[in-house]
Amino acid sequence: MSHLRPSPITPTVDFERDGVQHGFLRLPYSRDDSAWGSVMIPICVIRNGSGPSALLTGGNHGDEYEGPLALYDLARTLDPKQVSGTVIIVPAMNYPAFRAGTRTSPIDKGNLNRSFPGRSDGTVTEKIADYFQRELLPRTDIALDFHSGGKTLDFVPFCAAHIRPDKELEAKGFAAVEAFSAPWSMKMLEIDAVGMFDTAAEEMGKLFITTELGGGGTSRAETVRIARRGVLNVLRHAGIVAGAVEMQPTRWLDMPSGDCFSFAEDDGMIETMIDLGEPVEEGQVLARIHSIGRTGAAPQEIRARMSGLLAARHFPGLVKAGDCTAVVAVLVD
Ligand SMILES: [Zn+2]
Repeated sequence: MSHLRPSPITPTVDFERDGVQHGFLRLPYSRDDSAWGSVMIPICVIRNGSGPSALLTGGNHGDEYEGPLALYDLARTLDPKQVSGTVIIVPAMNYPAFRAGTRTSPIDKGNLNRSFPGRSDGTVTEKIADYFQRELLPRTDIALDFHSGGKTLDFVPFCAAHIRPDKELEAKGFAAVEAFSAPWSMKMLEIDAVGMFDTAAEEMGKLFITTELGGGGTSRAETVRIARRGVLNVLRHAGIVAGAVEMQPTRWLDMPSGDCFSFAEDDGMIETMIDLGEPVEEGQVLARIHSIGRTGAAPQEIRARMSGLLAARHFPGLVKAGDCTAVVAVLVD
């Protein structure tokens, strides 16, 4: 049972201490340029007495920026006098990936959001997952994990919670999503939930919400504003930060089946035929993939397998066979 060894990560913050602490999760990483070196993952703990505890995370994938922008900002500005309980902020969970501007870690190619529950004697990425699994999630009442599309996808901005077997927890998740008040709210279906932080939190019975707020490996003014407002709203909704939730209109979307997703079957150059947020009819051509190796070949057509609206699209101009090209979601209201 080697995975039950204690985590090699040492926090430089005390989770039980009142006030604001800016510190690190220090993960030993011996390597050519630093024999007894460490990965220093920034962490902020803002605590004021007993009360509920929130875990706020960004940079689970290293090329998604709305979460880190909102969370470094919150760590700098949240006054502990406004807080009842504990706010734990890790703005760049997979810090090596975040530093490299890549989805996965340059050290071990680990995708943190496919590495849960992790291993204390595993790779750097697995050690980070293990620390969240065994040290941070158990002390959490509500977890908010920010995502965006990264370099290869772009999304309409939404906050999301999963359909869950426990309907009481599901309803609490959807209520927290409403409080986040993104323009869109999603009842989310995963392509492959194994190894996800979401799954780890939910299997522990935690309230868990997430986002997809844009993409393309950058951020936009609008999506950063949504992130900043959303995180404060969720803390107010949870009773951790004083004040009323700044509700904004949201429209609910649903991903009812795997027919939501379209994938490229050929390499080539993608031509987007409709834009994010626009309505889609079943059978409509969402995108065309043009062969670039020769002239004269007809493009491959990517057709919608259900009606709804375009919630996500492939971002770069070139695609490879197997790339997710489009995601259609259904308007609930
Ligand atoms: Zn992500």
